[in-house]
Amino acid sequence: MPATPAWPPASTPRLFVDQPLGPGLVLTLDGAPANYLANVMRVKAGAPVRLFDDATGEWLAEVTDAGRRAVTLQLTTHLRAREAVPDLWLLFAPIKKDRLHYLVEKATELGAARLQPVVTHRAIVDRPNPERLRAHMIEAAEQCDRTALPELGEPEKLASLLATWPADRMLLFADEKGGHAFADVARPVPTAILIGPEGGFTDEERAAIRAVPQAIPVSLGPRILRAETAAAAALAAWMSHAGDWGTR
Ligand code: SAM
Repeated sequence: MPATPAWPPASTPRLFVDQPLGPGLVLTLDGAPANYLANVMRVKAGAPVRLFDDATGEWLAEVTDAGRRAVTLQLTTHLRAREAVPDLWLLFAPIKKDRLHYLVEKATELGAARLQPVVTHRAIVDRPNPERLRAHMIEAAEQCDRTALPELGEPEKLASLLATWPADRMLLFADEKGGHAFADVARPVPTAILIGPEGGFTDEERAAIRAVPQAIPVSLGPRILRAETAAAAALAAWMSHAGDWGTR
């Protein structure tokens, strides 16, 4: 007996829409989403599309009209609620643009709940473009099946972040000068991982971080990793020891 083909098919396009979704809603997409559906995915009337809004979860919609510049869809099925990702923040000193986009993409795929740019002494840029970062978060969420977008914090100076550090949040400080193994310290509790700039933290910054009661230095091994690699490695290590890996 041939297996019933999965519905919606795995090839179904998946898009984030920045408006609340609900049962039976009819919406018309234009601009880049319409171009993607009409001219890249070549959807026709009747085709399925998966939509999520970072609030109500994920919905199945049916194309009712597909023009070259606008695509109209009607929501048919609520597929799943917005996921609850582990309470894990990634704090990072902004790095060069392309590497920063890579970092944001990987942090979204790996399940970070919040991305927080931290202005440190050796950070090369103070204010990365938030629209660009958000666009990379959305693209990564569309691709990796996330229904909850990470929060994106306003850049904050390291000193003020440490001065108001929340008492209930563990601060895992990735220190290339050495620290604990993730296996020994990662716990399923509210946590933040701090990654330094390409130039590293100054000794004064290192001392200020280590002075925070919730701060624990962690090692990512004997080699000096690029900041974006360190971020991905640290998130993966925490997710495998204390996160939601193994819950798919
Ligand atoms: N310029 C620094 C140096 O030469 O010592 C290296 C900085 S590294 C490129 C950028 C950030 O990645 C560091 O501040 C740290 O947070 C993290 N990192 C890189 N390698 C690491 C390791 N082996 N263990 C822990 N953290 C690491």
